[in-house]
Amino acid sequence: MFELIGRTVIVTGGGSGIGAGIAAELASAGYQVAVVDRNAETAGRVAEQVVAAGGTAMPVVADVSDVAAVADTVAQVRDRFRTIDVLVNNAGFARDNHILEMTIEDWDTVQATHLRGSFLMLKAVAPLMSAQRWGRIVNISSISALGDSERVNYVAAKAGVEGFTRAAALDLAHHGITVNAVGPGVIPTAMTEVSAARAGRSLEEHLAAQAAQIPCGRVGSPHDVARAVQFFIAEDADFITGQVLYVSGGPHG
Ligand code: NAP
Repeated sequence: MFELIGRTVIVTGGGSGIGAGIAAELASAGYQVAVVDRNAETAGRVAEQVVAAGGTAMPVVADVSDVAAVADTVAQVRDRFRTIDVLVNNAGFARDNHILEMTIEDWDTVQATHLRGSFLMLKAVAPLMSAQRWGRIVNISSISALGDSERVNYVAAKAGVEGFTRAAALDLAHHGITVNAVGPGVIPTAMTEVSAARAGRSLEEHLAAQAAQIPCGRVGSPHDVARAVQFFIAEDADFITGQVLYVSGGPHG
């Protein structure tokens, strides 16, 4: 059923939500997928589901903000699949609070995963991609990068991810590696449940309120995000780099 195209993709935060959706869709498109997550149970489950559906996947347990864990992740994936061709930096979470209430730990921990984690993962795989003169890196940002209240840590991290994307694209353009970002709008996941609880609404109420403000009239899905990732990682997408594509059901900002 699945025809291997011989490319290996690492999806961080692949055990849940958007990352799990990207992992499943890329596997069904023929990629060998490494599902990297700090949650062993969910990473294992997603990899099992991919294999059960006829795809090729391996789980890797790692915190992307940990240098040794990142090095070990890359070693494990190379041992199993030999190459690493595509990196999707998707791992992330929010720790929302009004700026006056936000703790230093809330700030540091969010930057550590989104920014340090994306940098560490890129730094670990880019030399391998450079050696083969081919690579695709997609960083998952957010429409929150354009500004959002009571989440200054997250907004700064995602705006940073977009700047990181543009700067890394410049540094890696001559190495055959493209670096782009996808910025989702509202996608129901575990993260959205936290936002709904914080807003004091049920998940259904929260999503209905969000959908009412989205030009397309609906919230998004992991499939919508995976679609944009596939656009950036295509074999012939080598002239598209340093870009941010918002997948949010309409223009924003
Ligand atoms: P999710 O369902 O919570 O999935 C995120 C996964 O990443 C979880 O399994 C999480 O593990 C893992 N993770 C977090 N920090 C990690 C780390 N340091 N190392 C390894 N794994 C880590 O959230 P999601 O909504 O799919 O979010 C995925 C990405 O999309 C994030 O970058 C998020 O900022 C972005 N995004 C989401 C939305 C949305 O509406 N959902 C919108 C825009 C952007 P734990 O469960 O242990 O934390």
